[in-house]
Amino acid sequence: MSHFVPQGLPSRIQHYIDGKFVDSVDGSTFDVLDPVTNQNYLKAASGKAADIELAVLAARKAFTEGPWPRMKNRERAKILHRVADQVASRDKELAEFETFDTGLPITQALGQAQRAAENFRYFADLVVAQRDETYQVPETQLNYVHRKPVGVAGLITPWNTPFMLESWKLAPALASGCTVVLKPAEFTPLSASLWAGIFEEAGLPTGVFNLVNGLGEEAGDALVKHPLVPLISFTGETTTGQLIFGNSAKHLKGLSMELGGKSPAIVFDDADLDAAIDSTLFGVFSLNGERCTAGSRILVQRGIYDEFVERYAKRASNIVVGDPHDPKTEVGALVHPEHYAKVMSYVELGKSEGRLVAGGGRPDNLPTGNYVQPTVFADVKPTARIFQEEIFGPVVAITPFETDADALKLANDVKYGLAAYLWTNDLKRAHNFAHEIEAGMVWLNSHNVRDLRTPFGGVKASGLGQEGGYRSLDFYTEQQAVHISLSPVHTPKFGASAN
Ligand code: NAD
Repeated sequence: MSHFVPQGLPSRIQHYIDGKFVDSVDGSTFDVLDPVTNQNYLKAASGKAADIELAVLAARKAFTEGPWPRMKNRERAKILHRVADQVASRDKELAEFETFDTGLPITQALGQAQRAAENFRYFADLVVAQRDETYQVPETQLNYVHRKPVGVAGLITPWNTPFMLESWKLAPALASGCTVVLKPAEFTPLSASLWAGIFEEAGLPTGVFNLVNGLGEEAGDALVKHPLVPLISFTGETTTGQLIFGNSAKHLKGLSMELGGKSPAIVFDDADLDAAIDSTLFGVFSLNGERCTAGSRILVQRGIYDEFVERYAKRASNIVVGDPHDPKTEVGALVHPEHYAKVMSYVELGKSEGRLVAGGGRPDNLPTGNYVQPTVFADVKPTARIFQEEIFGPVVAITPFETDADALKLANDVKYGLAAYLWTNDLKRAHNFAHEIEAGMVWLNSHNVRDLRTPFGGVKASGLGQEGGYRSLDFYTEQQAVHISLSPVHTPKFGASAN
């Protein structure tokens, strides 16, 4: 198979600190490979504590001395709209880079690039529309909220939809007036290397955006432990989140964590079956299944179970797996051979934990590259590891249930609580079930379509705090309460009594 190589692909990338592209202080690099050939195509500067130190000092200087936190919201918003324009106008280039580096299908990478532009536009608009509370205590006091950016924000991101997830943190952090140090995932640093040019072009002041590439346990760890970084926004695995939580304790950092998931899609026997099948297929096989909100456990009511499994398996077997750059491709190549090996180990495990009804290995026509057939296991027991553990690939477990109570028990019987998808035409059941389910986000009769104003976040092991809309601005700002007395103060007069 001929391999598409995007134009302008660099062979090395550096850090971006204080408005300059720089190598690591110790000169070290790490190799980056593309998931179709698994060849190293790029060397990225490998940041350590010394590089993080320089980046944090630059961001700190831009915060304490620079114009960004002091600018009017409207002025910051103008620059962020220019960022959005840049991202939107370069969406094809961005998508090609992203697809080359991650193996995501090109049509889906394009959608993610456009969503990244939308994140900037949305938060630019939101800070201009910002209003804060004022409380009047009749005749005695006026209290108001003075909102100010927290400081240098540390942003640590995963590899699954890198550019979009970076925009998700960058846009509200910058809109709030914070300065930032971004540490992108080491599997996929390519698209992040475009941010510096985009920000320069848009007129972001020097030092506001800094980027340090590197390994999680080196660059990421140093960012988490840096005393001048008061808040960390992290998206990644639950176990990494737990480590970061512990490492942030010393400095009592503000934390926002978007972590793993094993989200249920529950199909009741009164559901629109055609719509449920379309959506539950898309819900786990889009983005190669490397999707935190994937509906990777499908619970189906007994009366429609056999029909559902048969139709679902047939469709899954028809999904087009192939070259990520081909617009016809529906599932591309998994990000990295290590991740491919992990997903394949679950595929093998699933053969003893469930009934294999589709996929089950590498597609015959794709002997190289990190390709996995969309794989469906039926009759999976809730104790099975493929029911309990996040696989983060194109693998789904289907389990039957009898009653609503059974479905609820199965749905909540995992450590995660990110998303849930319910398929039923019974209005009362839909709402009551949604309220009972342990998930940060529920979709009724829909796959994951999210308006940017709504809360995003998980419960249980899926996260800490919620972002989305004003909640993101709340995270990146402090809300200082200012109290003004409007009348003579009646203070108890300590020490004023005569002896
Ligand atoms: P990961 O936890 O391995 O890595 C995420 C980031 O953390 C990377 O940049 C990595 O370098 C860094 N990191 C690793 N160890 C670190 C440490 N000790 N200190 C500081 N930083 C460290 O996750 P991943 O494999 O890149 O991403 C996949 C995971 O992300 C999945 O579990 C998925 O569910 C989750 N995810 C969640 C959401 C969400 O919104 N809930 C969205 C996307 C992905």
